[in-house]
Amino acid sequence: EAVVRTTSFQHYLDQLYARFLDVRDGDVANYIPELAHVDADAFGMALVTVDGHVYQAGDSRTPFSIQSISKAFTYGIALEDQGPARVAEKIDVEPSGEAFNSISLEPKTGRPRNPMINAGAIVATSLVNGEDAAARLERILAKFEHYAGRPLGINPAIYESERSTGHRNRAIAHLLRNYEILEGDPEEPLDAYFRQCAIEVTARDLALMGATLANDGVNPITAVRALPSPLVPNVLAVMATCGMYDYSGNWIFQVGMPAKSGVGGGVVAVLPGQFGLAVYSPRLDAKGNSVRGIAVCESVSRDFGMHMLRVT
Ligand code: GLN
Repeated sequence: EAVVRTTSFQHYLDQLYARFLDVRDGDVANYIPELAHVDADAFGMALVTVDGHVYQAGDSRTPFSIQSISKAFTYGIALEDQGPARVAEKIDVEPSGEAFNSISLEPKTGRPRNPMINAGAIVATSLVNGEDAAARLERILAKFEHYAGRPLGINPAIYESERSTGHRNRAIAHLLRNYEILEGDPEEPLDAYFRQCAIEVTARDLALMGATLANDGVNPITAVRALPSPLVPNVLAVMATCGMYDYSGNWIFQVGMPAKSGVGGGVVAVLPGQFGLAVYSPRLDAKGNSVRGIAVCESVSRDFGMHMLRVT
């Protein structure tokens, strides 16, 4: 049973919202042109417990593009479809300590360092079952819907914006093709990856997606299984070690929860067996993490002693 289950937690969340509402540090991502058009000061948060209680504050129902947060969930699908051994041949699980868009490949093999950098994420998308990009994308969307417990869609303007400007990711995909880590036409998984990143979620959706991981892969509200139980620790492990880009070490030190952020301004943190916590606030710090997202997660962890490595 979840530890967080009092009405006073709602009060706490409301206070947290008020405390950080005036924070204006950081800037919205602009390397995907369309992302620069979002409301920079939007601020929402939600926490969903493994027994299905939902707490939310602010713009918790404002849609935004999931971006890199998708990487964790798609990696789970790749593990399910190919098995961990075959996935490991193509994607390592070693933190790179480098930015999300780094070309962090093993020198001889071209194997991406982990599935949370773009290179590894594009490969993970290619490993999802489906005969073409459309079928793979359909499977990804259906799985994400199991996590979120409702139908989801893709923001066409954000997809189009990234597709037409994503030269770095395109270069990474072709490099991966050169190493034969990607097979066939590299534009196919790349296109599915761009669409996957443009899937729209809310903070509430993300918190429920996190709660599903916290609940051993079963959505705590719909009771639908989104990920086979044995794979849950694998997904949470790469989130714990690589989920916050080159801030991952500091994050696990301070906050102590597996997490994943995206340049759309979302961040989701998971306390296994307890809850999923999500924040939406598009102003990012220099490493690409949501400034208020970090502040909120740090506060919850500290104020409730939620560091997962805490003994008492
Ligand atoms: N779609 C983005 C990209 O590939 C996702 C990056 C992110 O959220 N960090 O560049």
